[in-house]
Amino acid sequence: MSNTPETTVVVAKKPAMAHKSIVNESREIERAVTLIDLGARLQVLESETTLSYERLLRLYKEVAGRSPSKGQLPFSTDWFLTWQENIHSSLFLNIYEYLSKSSAGDDIDMLIKAYRLYSEQMVATEVEPLLSFTRAWRLVKFVDAHMLTMTTCSQCHGHYVTEPYENSRYFVCGLCNPPARAGKGKNAGGLRLH
Ligand SMILES: [Zn+2]
Repeated sequence: MSNTPETTVVVAKKPAMAHKSIVNESREIERAVTLIDLGARLQVLESETTLSYERLLRLYKEVAGRSPSKGQLPFSTDWFLTWQENIHSSLFLNIYEYLSKSSAGDDIDMLIKAYRLYSEQMVATEVEPLLSFTRAWRLVKFVDAHMLTMTTCSQCHGHYVTEPYENSRYFVCGLCNPPARAGKGKNAGGLRLH
């Protein structure tokens, strides 16, 4: 960080405020670095920090060692509703909602915590983590926008990501009623049903 003349003037006039803004800024940078480490796309960083696009771009290249991928973020809710992806999404959202109810903090910090727990769970069960951080972030946005919700399975009573108008009286989740070919794949790291 360069010590520009403007910064010096601010520090001389209002030391308390300048101190506060430096603390805030370092928190923002720390948050951005964490997000990059978790594989978040640049659009997520832009949305969740107040740092400028140019700074984020530089930070991204420095931390990730490459340029961020270009292109739009996935917009459709379909991904979260396909069988295997739905199980991953549901697991993540259960963790996220549990954390949101039981502890205080910014939404993004909760999302980071929930994503770490989800990833640890995947490592422990040797399942490939299908849900990327950007997808997890998108999922929470879809739920906030009431484009997706959680519905209780009428058989196992687990909570699953569904479309908002799913009827909970008849809803059966993908684990209780898997598609015919589900869990038969030979892919290492895929979900297996016993
Ligand atoms: Zn079920």
